[in-house]
Amino acid sequence: MPLDRFRREIDFLRISLVDYCNLRCVYCMPLNARRPLSGPSLLTPGEIELVARAAIGVGFRKIRLTGGEPTLRHDLLEIVERLAAIPGLRDLALTTNGILLSRLASSLVRAGLRRVNIHVDTLNPQRLAQIMRLGTFGEIWEGIMAAEAAGLTPIKLNAVVTRGFNDEDVAELATLTRERPWHVRFIELMPLGVGEPAALSRAKFVPSAETESRIVAALGPLVPLPVSDPSDESRNSRLIGGQGTIGFISPVSRPYCGTCNRMRLTADGKFHLCLLNDDELDVRQALAVGGIPAVAEILLRAVGAKPTGHRLHVNETIERREMFQLGG
Ligand code: SAM
Repeated sequence: MPLDRFRREIDFLRISLVDYCNLRCVYCMPLNARRPLSGPSLLTPGEIELVARAAIGVGFRKIRLTGGEPTLRHDLLEIVERLAAIPGLRDLALTTNGILLSRLASSLVRAGLRRVNIHVDTLNPQRLAQIMRLGTFGEIWEGIMAAEAAGLTPIKLNAVVTRGFNDEDVAELATLTRERPWHVRFIELMPLGVGEPAALSRAKFVPSAETESRIVAALGPLVPLPVSDPSDESRNSRLIGGQGTIGFISPVSRPYCGTCNRMRLTADGKFHLCLLNDDELDVRQALAVGGIPAVAEILLRAVGAKPTGHRLHVNETIERREMFQLGG
């Protein structure tokens, strides 16, 4: 498993398949976002497979497909099939807004996908519409049901907590874990880029401690769960008698950079070294001229150059990309 300069084991590759989305969540993608990458700029399924083979060859074990919205790739099933067939890959998952999942869930399972994380910020349809600006709660709920029926489990639901939009709805979301074996995770807003989503993320930030207090006040104590995976960014707990778990992901108030195990691949073929930093290394040219060995070499360089952590505490963030271009 590759170690970086700080002796962190980097074994998790997050692959962004597209840089656009069918939603426009207020903290993620501007309404007037620039045109997405056109077809030829996106890595092809064959190129993605080669990068994944190089990564697994040097010791990576986990892959997550993200976006933008990865289900918008017409060749998503081919990509999943190619990756699922690589020996040595232990975990293949997808992060999605769930809108298209009711149509895709069973085919994704047949292609070899194991798990999904689905983004839903509130169970209140009107408030969700204000956050997402496009898409409906009904579509997402159908997607969650389809994912569960297809066996894409355990289901993880991600809610980004945004003041004035959904901060009062967190207890209702957490209640889902009483009856269902789902993991509901509450994420702190991060400011990425220099546009409106970053400004809103700063202005509407809610610390996890406040979200947790609100849940405890409404539903009773949370029982902390032991840490089973040190690189899990979520601090997990359970309601007494609950079937599922409640997690808090706190990149701003409790950064977890010290246990970061991630490398990111952008949709246009760059290794992106840290979510909140601009540093990138180009993979595309290496792929064209040197194949898997050349990609492996660049990947190890990228691991070696990973920054210690983000610098949000001194108000520094990434400038060249926004969240919808990186995928979390
Ligand atoms: N479209 C997919 C989805 O909705 O999950 C994958 C990409 S999306 C960028 C991945 C996750 O990042 C989602 O859970 C989303 O809510 C979260 N996210 C987006 N903008 C964020 C921000 N500014 N701070 C924290 N999380 C954010």
